[in-house]
Amino acid sequence: MSFDDLGLSPELLKAVQEAGYTNPTPIQQNAIPYALMGRDVLGTAQTGTGKTAAFLLPAIDILDTSKAKARMPRALILEPTRELAIQVEEAFDVYTKYHQKLSTVVLMGGVSYGDQDQRLLRGVDVIIATPGRLLDSFERGRVMMSGIKYLVIDEADRMMDMGFMPDVERIVGLLPKIRQTLFFSATMPNEIKRLADAFLTNPKEIAVSAPSSAAETVTQGMAVVDERDKREALRQLIKTEEVRNALIFCNRKRDVAVLYRSMKKHGFNVAQLHGDMDQGSRTETMEMFREGKVDMLVCSDVAARGLDIQGLSHVFNFDVPMNAEDYVHRIGRTGRAGLPGRAFTLATPSDTKFVQDITKLIGRDIPEIQVEGFENLEFDDSARRGGRRRSPRRDTAKSDTPRRTKSKRTANDDKPASKKSAKSEEKPASASKKAESSQKRRPKTSKKKNEPREPREPVMGMGDHTPAFLSLPIRRRQKPTRSSGKEPSSAE
Ligand code: AMP
Repeated sequence: MSFDDLGLSPELLKAVQEAGYTNPTPIQQNAIPYALMGRDVLGTAQTGTGKTAAFLLPAIDILDTSKAKARMPRALILEPTRELAIQVEEAFDVYTKYHQKLSTVVLMGGVSYGDQDQRLLRGVDVIIATPGRLLDSFERGRVMMSGIKYLVIDEADRMMDMGFMPDVERIVGLLPKIRQTLFFSATMPNEIKRLADAFLTNPKEIAVSAPSSAAETVTQGMAVVDERDKREALRQLIKTEEVRNALIFCNRKRDVAVLYRSMKKHGFNVAQLHGDMDQGSRTETMEMFREGKVDMLVCSDVAARGLDIQGLSHVFNFDVPMNAEDYVHRIGRTGRAGLPGRAFTLATPSDTKFVQDITKLIGRDIPEIQVEGFENLEFDDSARRGGRRRSPRRDTAKSDTPRRTKSKRTANDDKPASKKSAKSEEKPASASKKAESSQKRRPKTSKKKNEPREPREPVMGMGDHTPAFLSLPIRRRQKPTRSSGKEPSSAE
């Protein structure tokens, strides 16, 4: 099927062709004709499938042919993150190259209200928004929702994960009942389906690609190393791979910062992206990465969700994601548009459960890779989520390599690592200090303890255990006249 068969306007076909798209993706083939007919759409599709164009292209043609009302936005696209919202706006700009009349605004947190309010005042056709900021703007009387006829709820599962669903439900309640709704989610658990049923009317249901299929074009691999060796293993892995540009995922924001500092210290051209950064620095960082000014981006899932970098060569999972779907999303950043991509994961022995979840979801094992200088450890079968990390083989037979690695790490790694190792080195040190001081104290103590054993007067007959009463001067009193007070000799 070609784009010409979808029923799009010549202007859109031209814009799409100039964007470099030759054929529509499955979600586009299935969604666009129905959306153009005015049908609701329920799409199970994840980022990387071309779903943005699947909801934007029909929106553009529908808006272009329907009547605009002064200061009344006619389409609303809800996105869970600012990054996604910005990306949708960028796609909108590309696709509306020949629809210059259509205007848009992005309403998202982390930026001042001023510019957004100005644009709303001038009038826009399409609002691309994160739920919280949209409600803020609505409550401040800056947005009119009564003209919205085309609603897109994108990444619904992520909205739910992020706790945005109550806001989304409130927003939907503010919109006209008669409208067209397109609802997309990477996964469709029951609670999402229930919401979809509430928001949509007789939708065309489309499920493109099982969550595992985005990974088909990506070479995957996994090494199992000790938690403390991960940074060094990652550096080693990067050195042995031909990395043009890479996203490096951590599970937690604070780990993003720690790994970023470590990588920087080791001379990598790296930047970081996490939710605690203000919008300005996030946008700037993404620009730098897009433009190739930095080669690697250490990031968290939420910050990098939907981050679309053409021709990304690598994805590294510094942590095994705790949510199996995140694995698919992460590795789906690479291997796009038929280009080869490589995705490697550093697991620890206690990641058993998470890795099992992933292999179950993608329907196959992640091939084991060998990171030079590191033995692959075994998964800990008894490990549970959040359980303690143990590395059985390290403790036993395979102790040589780890020991070498450990000392190397202590010497070279960054502050947090050296803090850690310093701590672990301090322990024995402080333990020996304790031991030392107790050694110093011991003689005093023992001296005190021995004091009773060193009586000032000689012990007679019964050694250390002379009963006290025997020391009493009884005899002296009994025989006052026979002696001159002289003690009887021991021979008596
Ligand atoms: P999305 O899933 O919407 O985030 O899109 C992922 C990437 O695929 C984006 O970089 C789009 O520009 C690109 N894309 C969307 N549709 C097509 C298409 N039909 N052919 C080639 N690339 C596309």
